[in-house]
Amino acid sequence: MIKRKLNDVAAWVNGEVVGLEGASINVAGVSTDTRTIQNGNLYIPLVGENFNGHDFVGAAIENGAVGALWQKNQPNPPSNIPLIYVEDTLLALQELAKNYLGSTSAKVVGITGSNGKTTTKDMVTSVLATTYKVQKTEGNYNNHIGLPLTILRLEEDTEIAVLEMGMSGRGEIELLSTIAKPDAAIITNIGESHLQDLGSREGISEAKFEITTGLLEDGSLVIHGDEPLLTEKGGNAPFRVVTFGSSTENDYYPVQIEQKSDGTYFKINGKEDTEFFIPVLGKHNINNALSAVAIAQLFDVSIPNIKKGLEQIKLTGMRTELIEGKDGVAIINDAYNASPTSMRAAIILLQDLKDYSRKMVVLGDMLELGENEETFHYEVGKGIDKTKIDYVFTFGALAKQIAEGAKVNFPEDQVFAFEDKQDLITKVKETVRGGDIVLVKGSRGMKLEEVVTALT
Ligand code: ATP
Ligand code: MG
Repeated sequence: MIKRKLNDVAAWVNGEVVGLEGASINVAGVSTDTRTIQNGNLYIPLVGENFNGHDFVGAAIENGAVGALWQKNQPNPPSNIPLIYVEDTLLALQELAKNYLGSTSAKVVGITGSNGKTTTKDMVTSVLATTYKVQKTEGNYNNHIGLPLTILRLEEDTEIAVLEMGMSGRGEIELLSTIAKPDAAIITNIGESHLQDLGSREGISEAKFEITTGLLEDGSLVIHGDEPLLTEKGGNAPFRVVTFGSSTENDYYPVQIEQKSDGTYFKINGKEDTEFFIPVLGKHNINNALSAVAIAQLFDVSIPNIKKGLEQIKLTGMRTELIEGKDGVAIINDAYNASPTSMRAAIILLQDLKDYSRKMVVLGDMLELGENEETFHYEVGKGIDKTKIDYVFTFGALAKQIAEGAKVNFPEDQVFAFEDKQDLITKVKETVRGGDIVLVKGSRGMKLEEVVTALT
């Protein structure tokens, strides 16, 4: 974490120290939350929609803060703690992170994309950590506040920081990229999330491409090469572009894929002597792994270490997790989130699995898809392969359209739509038997993990 004198922090944020002897005060780490603040932290009060951090400075001092930023327009500054006066505490947090990162020798890998950011971050970290001291974004700290906080948690001797960059609209990735100045950046894919705000997939790809704003001149961009919206833009880019995907036109593509119950085995073009293994399922995860391999090679990690790193990946929970349920029922828990791209990916994964007697899907609403939301749901349902899937259960008003789409190919008695979660759970439990496998997936707000809990 950042360890600096208060005066040095003040200089970085263009602030003015008031009260007590700022020069001699040591700051160790920053916090924006008085409930988790640690002794020695600098407290950064943010002004949010529901809370104003300035109201909690008393608690911050009680809980160990040695100093605080203070936004000039806020009333009643405390006098019993040194303050750094700034125009805007959020901008100061971002500026501090930028300057701190710049003062370390850490290289940065930035990761954005519609789906798979967190998974890819975990994979990239795992392969790089075989060779370097690496720190990554914890949980989903990937926005204009989370990313600066992540940077300020980096240790001075960290060699590579792997940073997730999320967004919900234009300009956000540009900001994050300008703060982090990546040496290498990944765009995992372009999906349909945030279509509502960005208008089109083209708009989404432009927003993701903002990650190149801060990319260093000799940096590299790693993109999903099966996506024309990315390769077109990548083709004109002034920096090195590396592609991955299923197509053999890519720099990195998989050969000899084998999905088993413990995970996925595959080889990579040009490295056919090595069999790689990832303890997760789904072709989309091979893509995520390929981008991690591309990054690892940019940082000169050896093939044996890349292999080892991929085998050891530890993913953040609820993302395409294969778990054992009660009475011999297998469950793919993908209840963390859903978009059309990720839902199709999960269904294809289920369709491709062998060794199960019957396969079923429990699919919930995909939220925030904008005006064509019903069509997106309908198309997902229509795309389910009747010869490979036995039952379709849906939950929610939008997911009902998935059921409608499925009925184009499926007989009526294999498709069930629910709007009451308890009814859904009862029906699913009544239907499953030992030897079956159930995919559970929906947007975060649908809380489909309750179905998973009921089956485990
Ligand atoms: P968030 O926007 O919530 O931070 P994220 O981009 O970090 O999401 P992950 O949490 O890694 O994404 O994965 C979410 C889901 O997206 C996974 O459970 C999986 O179903 C799907 N997914 C992961 N990788 C890909 C990919 N490369 N292409 C399509 N879908 C993917
Ligand atoms: Mg994420």
